[in-house]
Amino acid sequence: MSVAESLPRAAERKSRAKQPTRVRRPSREDALEAVRTLIRWAGDDPHREGLVGTPDRVVRSYAEFFSGYDEDPVALLQRTFEETDGYDEIVMLKDIRFESHCEHHIAPIIGKVHIAYLPSNRVVGISKLARLVEVYAKRLQIQEKMTAQIANTLDEVLQPKGVAVVIEAAHQCMTTRGVHKPGVSMVTSRMLGEFRTDPLSRREVLSMIGTPGGGSCEHV
Ligand SMILES: [Zn+2]
Repeated sequence: MSVAESLPRAAERKSRAKQPTRVRRPSREDALEAVRTLIRWAGDDPHREGLVGTPDRVVRSYAEFFSGYDEDPVALLQRTFEETDGYDEIVMLKDIRFESHCEHHIAPIIGKVHIAYLPSNRVVGISKLARLVEVYAKRLQIQEKMTAQIANTLDEVLQPKGVAVVIEAAHQCMTTRGVHKPGVSMVTSRMLGEFRTDPLSRREVLSMIGTPGGGSCEHV
């Protein structure tokens, strides 16, 4: 821990990596019945031939879409490497594709995550960064929260000098319903440590990412 690593920063790290509250899951039969209810709500008959197997498929899809609730993102990153031979430049993984679902409409969010960090003494395998994205993407999300969660978890586990996470994504709740605006993507970013406090480091990381706009915009 460097001198600059003050206690409040460590405490802040600890409090940020919160896990979702555990809920009691309904039975599989309850879930199937809920899908039948939604089919009736849409105006169709869940017992007609073409729809009979649908509740089962939807429930199995949900298990895949929301598998991130069963994984602990902090445990996932625990295995780190300290033999870096003094490497202290930016480590970046770009264009990590993800699929998530917005928590307001349960509609798909599809996009890319760019992750960068400035190691202090620990690095992590790059596949772990991609897995970290998956764990948070496979939950009900809003893009801003997912951006912060990825950055905060990396910050907590690796304790690097800086973390930058930028997400660009299209929200199907905007393209296929509501305002119907296809081709719009939302960009969010979370900068911690040196990327937050040092404008030069921030500019360097943003130019490496090559983000259109290079900043953040509001959720619509
Ligand atoms: Zn939405």
